[in-house]
Amino acid sequence: MSHAERPLTAMIDPVAGPPDCAAYERAGGWQATRTALRTLAPAEVVDIVTRSRLRGRGGAGFGTGQKWSFVPREPASERCKYLIANADEMEPGTFKDRWLMEGNPLQLVEGMLLAAYAIQAGHGIIFLRGEYHLARTRLHDAIAQARHGGWLGQDILGSGFSFDIHVHVSAGRYICGEETALLTALEGRRATPRSKPPFPQTGGLWGAPSVVNNVETLSNLPHIIANGPEWFAGLGIGPDGGTKIYGVSGRVRRPGAWELPIGTPLREIIEEHAGGMQPGYGLRALLPGGASTAFVDDTALDMAMDYASVEKAGSRLGTGMAIILDDRTCPVGMLRNLEHFFAQESCGWCTPCRDGLPWVERLLDAIEAGTGMAEDIDQLDRHARMLGTPGHTFCAHAPGAMAPLASGLKLFARDFADHIAGRGCPLRHAA
Ligand code: NAD
Repeated sequence: MSHAERPLTAMIDPVAGPPDCAAYERAGGWQATRTALRTLAPAEVVDIVTRSRLRGRGGAGFGTGQKWSFVPREPASERCKYLIANADEMEPGTFKDRWLMEGNPLQLVEGMLLAAYAIQAGHGIIFLRGEYHLARTRLHDAIAQARHGGWLGQDILGSGFSFDIHVHVSAGRYICGEETALLTALEGRRATPRSKPPFPQTGGLWGAPSVVNNVETLSNLPHIIANGPEWFAGLGIGPDGGTKIYGVSGRVRRPGAWELPIGTPLREIIEEHAGGMQPGYGLRALLPGGASTAFVDDTALDMAMDYASVEKAGSRLGTGMAIILDDRTCPVGMLRNLEHFFAQESCGWCTPCRDGLPWVERLLDAIEAGTGMAEDIDQLDRHARMLGTPGHTFCAHAPGAMAPLASGLKLFARDFADHIAGRGCPLRHAA
């Protein structure tokens, strides 16, 4: 792909570091801001982004323009509204937003400014994962430069629109990435999710209309406004618009992340970009979009990595950062590790999630350790169905946790049976 076709990452140079404000401008930065603030009404920006077919890159894939269209239309000067960048990237196997924030933080700042202009929000907040120290320093530096250059602050470009950004560092819980828990955390309270509706777009931070968008989603905006919605939509292969940062972790030759047309086939991502499996390892199955997506096996390798195709294959695109299970790693052990994470990260607010996830972990522990019983499989299956049904728990945490378990119970039924019959992990016995 040429630089023009890799808009999100073209300016990222890991050796030189992020571009400063002048370098960012020389490479085409701030052009979109000039266009939007001088020639477009906020509703026109919403319309352009809707036509670009940009969908949320945090995992759920909700239409970005559609999300903005729910925000009350009053100008920023008349009503307090918030634009929040969700940078609490804690999905296991996912590190794409970190790459964008460390590599080109001004792109996020400009994306936030454009989103804020579209919804007429005067206040921007970056809710940043606590461990992202380098991103924090670089974001602070980028915000200071943008203020100095007049791109943030009062009456930007003489347009009458004022906007500034504050960085909030998360205290470090997975649930803080759930948008309503994030809002509760920002209000200084324990980070438990809230019921929706009201959606944040109408009743968000301190009750004010708020939009929470993912870092990758926001970073796309300067390119959409500068080059037009048709250009962006045309970058994708298939139904979705733009590029996507895909990634692969596990026993591949070159684990990493790459910006590719959205809809790139999974096989191309694994075999060409990640270099295929390491010698001596075969691909057994994979989680296509992070830990909270369902396993697919190698029969899904030819699927396009777009939202609809991955759903058709029984999983979700999620963050687009795939985790590979190889044929020398125990799938029961991998599931145990995943469910340990999800149990630990339950916020404890609703009983099914707080009590159900640790119970799932205990059952998997027992099966892996050799004390599991045949009935435990039925128990796991019941939990996967109960906790995996949206509406049975307060938020999407438990359904996300059950996605790998429910699919794993089917795909790895033989492994579960062997663990129970052989009183423990066959791989550990063989070692
Ligand atoms: P969701 O579908 O409930 O919401 C997605 C977005 O769309 C939200 O902003 C929500 O406000 C909006 N929305 C949905 N329905 C709406 C409606 N009817 N009206 C107005 N707005 C509406 O999903 P979610 O619970 O926010 O997110 C779940 C996803 O998060 C999962 O797909 C998972 O892959 C992903 N995830 C990502 C990370 C990460 O680190 N990036 C971590 C954990 C989970």
